[in-house]
Amino acid sequence: MRVLIAEDHPVNQLVVRRLLERRGHSVTVVSDGLAALSALETSAFDLVLMDIQMPMMDGLQTTRAIRLREATSGGRIPIIAVTAHGMRGDEDTLLEAGFDAYVAKPVSDERLFEAIRRFTSRDRSRRLPFLGSTRHPMEK
Ligand code: MN
Repeated sequence: MRVLIAEDHPVNQLVVRRLLERRGHSVTVVSDGLAALSALETSAFDLVLMDIQMPMMDGLQTTRAIRLREATSGGRIPIIAVTAHGMRGDEDTLLEAGFDAYVAKPVSDERLFEAIRRFTSRDRSRRLPFLGSTRHPMEK
């Protein structure tokens, strides 16, 4: 798959990039929401991994903007939130913004690919998969 990672933290960028590339995916990394929007305008992707806390335009704003754009352009790219807000209370906010799933930091291979597998499989449930740990409430 062609995956767009929107993540401002250099270490997290590297970690997620490596997890995806190890599985043969093609990865583009951007550091904020505005850059994510322009990447989506100029290139084709199959999946977006979106950090929530980013400068300029955060993950929620960016995802809302993507869904708004899709309302006229058509299509619906899967967007997975990568968040420290890995708690059930936040699910409604993420769903409302247009996310399809989320994984909590620190992102592990197991969590990430479980999220990808779930909603790229045909029998996925409509429910937002909760794959996060609540043991890491703080994010950089
Ligand atoms: Mn961040």
